[in-house]
Amino acid sequence: VTARIDRLRARLDDLGAAGFLVSNPTNVRYLTGFQSSNAYLVVTPERAVVSTDFRYLEAARALEGVEVLESERDMAGWIAPRLSELADGPVAFEADSLTVASHDSLSGGGAELVPTTGVITGIRAVKDPEELDAIRAAAAILSAAYEALAEHGLVGHTELEIVWFLEKTMREAGAEAAAFDAIVGVGPHGAVPHHHPDDTQIGPNELVVVDAGARVHGYNSDCTRTFATGPLPEELERAYAVTKEAQQAGLDAVRPGLNGKDAHETAAQVIRDAGFGELSHGLGHGLGLDVHELPVLREGVDMTLEPRNVVTIEPGIYLAGKGGVRIEDLVIVTDSEPEILTTFTKDLVTLG
Ligand code: ZN
Ligand code: ZN
Repeated sequence: VTARIDRLRARLDDLGAAGFLVSNPTNVRYLTGFQSSNAYLVVTPERAVVSTDFRYLEAARALEGVEVLESERDMAGWIAPRLSELADGPVAFEADSLTVASHDSLSGGGAELVPTTGVITGIRAVKDPEELDAIRAAAAILSAAYEALAEHGLVGHTELEIVWFLEKTMREAGAEAAAFDAIVGVGPHGAVPHHHPDDTQIGPNELVVVDAGARVHGYNSDCTRTFATGPLPEELERAYAVTKEAQQAGLDAVRPGLNGKDAHETAAQVIRDAGFGELSHGLGHGLGLDVHELPVLREGVDMTLEPRNVVTIEPGIYLAGKGGVRIEDLVIVTDSEPEILTTFTKDLVTLG
C-alpha cells in the first residue's frame, strides 16, 4: 500500500503540486485499502492523511501507513480550511471525481487547487502481483461458471434465469459478487451489445451472447462467449467464424508498446474485410477494481500497453434483427505472449 502512495508522490512535481487530494472512493481504496463512501486522502511528500466521519473511523484507525483524522460528514467543507496546513503549496484534485458543490467548498478554503484527470487511474493501470492474483482468481471462477453453463444448457430457460444461474454459480464458487449484471441476449437481442436480459425464453437455432464477470477481493473479471442452440443460418455461422478470427488477431497483437487504436484496428480490419462493416464498439478495456479502467483499446486512443496491464479483447459482429456474436477474453500484458485468464473454449459450442 505504501508503495502505491509512493507512486502517487512521485507524480507531485510534474503536477506542480505540494499535495494530492484523492476523493474518488475507489482510488482511496486502491491507495490505502480503506473502503468508505465518505473519505478523502491527502498525500504530501511526508504525509498520507485519511479523513472520514465517525461512521468509518474505527475501520480507518486499523489502516497501516496512514494518519487518520475525524471529519464531519461534509468532507469538502471540513477539509477546505485545513488543506493549506496539510500541504505546503498547491493541491492537486481529481477533476473527474468531485461535485461542483464540493469544489466550491474546497475553493473557499484558500488553498490553490490544481485540477487533474487520470493520474491515479493511470497508476492503477499497471497492476502489482497481489492484484494480478485477485484478477486471476476472479477469472478462474468465471471460466468455471461457463463450464457449468455448458453442462446446464440454455434452451427452455429465460435470459434472466441464465443470469441468475451464472451469478449463483460464481457466488457458490467464492465470488463476493457478480462484477456487473450479466448480459444474456438471445437471437435479435444479441445484436444489441448492452441488452438488458428479460424473460424471453431461449429457443433452438439461435445465437446467445453471454457476457459475465466475477469479483474477488474487490477485483473483477469479464468474459463473453456466444453459444448456438442448434444449426444456424450460414450468415450467423460465418459471423461467428469471423469474430473468432478477429479476436485472435487482437490477441496476437497484444504486447507492450501497442497503441490502443492500433490494437482496435487489427481486429476491426478482419471484420471489415469479411464484409461485416465496422467494429461498432471499442476492442477492449482495462479492468481491475473497476470493470472499465485504463488502458482503453479503441479508435483514437494513443495510450500504449505496458506489462502488467490487464485488458479485455472483445470484438463483436451485430446483425440487427438476426443475432450477434461477441467473444471476449481477459488477458495480462507481459513482455511476450499475453497471459489469457479466461479459458473456456472459443470454438462454437452448441447447447440444448
Ligand atoms: Zn464483458
Ligand atoms: Zn468487457
